Amino acid sequence: MAAFPPTTTPLEGERLTEVIKDWAAANGLVVRPPPAVISAEADPQGILATPVPVTLFPSPFPKVCFDQGVSVQKAYNELYAAISQDEGFLAQTIKDIGDSDDFITELWKVHLRVKAEGYVQHKSLGLFRSDYMVHQDTADSDPMIKQVEFNTIASSFGGLSAQTSALHKYLASTEYPLLESSIAHGKLDLPRNSSVAGLAGGIRQAFIEYGAPTTSHSKCVIFLVQGGERNIFDQKHLEFELQKSEEPQIPVFRLPYAEILQHTRVADDSGRQLLYTPPKYPARTFEVAVIYMRSGYGPGDYPDQSAWEARYHLERSAAIKCPSVLTQVAGTKKVQQVLATPETPSNSSVLNNFLPSESSGRTAKLAATFTNIYPLDDTEAGLKARQIAQDPELCKKYVLKPQREGGGNNIYRSAIPEFLKTIPEAHYASYILMELITPPPVTNTILRNGKLEHGGVICELGIYGTCLWEGKSGKVLHNEQAGYLLRTKGDKSEEGGVAAGFGCMDSCSLV
Ligand code: ADP
Ligand code: MG
Repeated sequence: MAAFPPTTTPLEGERLTEVIKDWAAANGLVVRPPPAVISAEADPQGILATPVPVTLFPSPFPKVCFDQGVSVQKAYNELYAAISQDEGFLAQTIKDIGDSDDFITELWKVHLRVKAEGYVQHKSLGLFRSDYMVHQDTADSDPMIKQVEFNTIASSFGGLSAQTSALHKYLASTEYPLLESSIAHGKLDLPRNSSVAGLAGGIRQAFIEYGAPTTSHSKCVIFLVQGGERNIFDQKHLEFELQKSEEPQIPVFRLPYAEILQHTRVADDSGRQLLYTPPKYPARTFEVAVIYMRSGYGPGDYPDQSAWEARYHLERSAAIKCPSVLTQVAGTKKVQQVLATPETPSNSSVLNNFLPSESSGRTAKLAATFTNIYPLDDTEAGLKARQIAQDPELCKKYVLKPQREGGGNNIYRSAIPEFLKTIPEAHYASYILMELITPPPVTNTILRNGKLEHGGVICELGIYGTCLWEGKSGKVLHNEQAGYLLRTKGDKSEEGGVAAGFGCMDSCSLV
């Protein structure tokens, strides 16, 4: 095949822009418009939606790498389910991060409080996403994926990514064959993307596993969201998918994090059922079976102590949490760093503690996705990493990460030494230093807010997984790989968050 993605003529660019914008509106590949595009005053009723930034073509992505990500996902699910159940390991992680990190400290306190009175819900749901970039040791070695991070809370874009795959499939059959650099129908290898069905399937399974309601109320699912969420349609796709099933019928309500205490209460019963009264239907009350969190992952959602009370209130309730506090802590970058620390003659790899020894093949496959990550504490490895981080040349190959989620928190390359000077050395241990992955260059065109941007791009693959487990028996009740996400950003940008405005949606054309 000729160069892919092909360059398009200006007329073809116009045509694709038109087709994509209409397809996106018709199929819900949209977000609420950013204030830079439509000011709040111009849309006082909040009725507008606009196409999400997206590539004109699915980016070429090595099939071996895609298959590698898919093939390790169930092992990753199991690994993080096991970590979530190892309170001792997580307590040590919290200690290692240190109390300079207020957010993580408060989060852990929620767990300790609930532990003191005893958990009433031992089932836990994870909707995970493992993020990767393609890495190539040398120009002629085989490409492989290296993990950027593992998300255990609010893993987003599963709703929009299935739609993006569908968009590119549509273009491949209708538009690409007509281009001057024509791509014949059926030429591209576009993998199936089951992210919507997969993620909703995980929530449905938890809804079922919750069992029959033990109050007089029927069950519901709560999507715990941020007020003013612009990426609402990503979440709506999952909601609509859940509601498609006739049996069981699943009522879904969106609850802003700030309104938890206003609209829910924990039953006085020893069962501690979580009861929700929808503000618009005050005569109705539901027993919450599952809380799916699309908020609560960062300090922004906890402006005051009452927000922490609200988290405690949910955690002590009988609702199945996605995720529990323990699972959220399992997703910290510190845990990722500890897992990625290679085995030495004196130290066995932590990974082996979490996966049964008969699965050493799987352990090796997981370990192959790790890149070098170092602590920044006062251990020998940490002190070595501090030297790298403070060196104006060496630091250029690294990213410094705090224990945060949601984008915009990392410090890149040459900014690291300067940044470290601004924080007390006692806080260094709450960061990790990670080698930058530099994927082979890809060129594509991004359609953002009606304008085309052509150039070098960097692609990040996310593989979704759903896992439901029972903490008392350690039994995994459900474990599935659940579709994928391809996010692409201009190669001049460090961060790739679509919601943050840097990246865009994409899908894979396997090569
Ligand atoms: P967050 O939890 O805020 O999403 P990430 O660890 O995913 O934090 O980092 C945000 C973005 O920074 C990633 O999506 C990726 O684009 C970039 N990034 C992070 N770590 C690396 C790395 N090791 N190599 C290359 N890029 C990285
Ligand atoms: Mg990320």
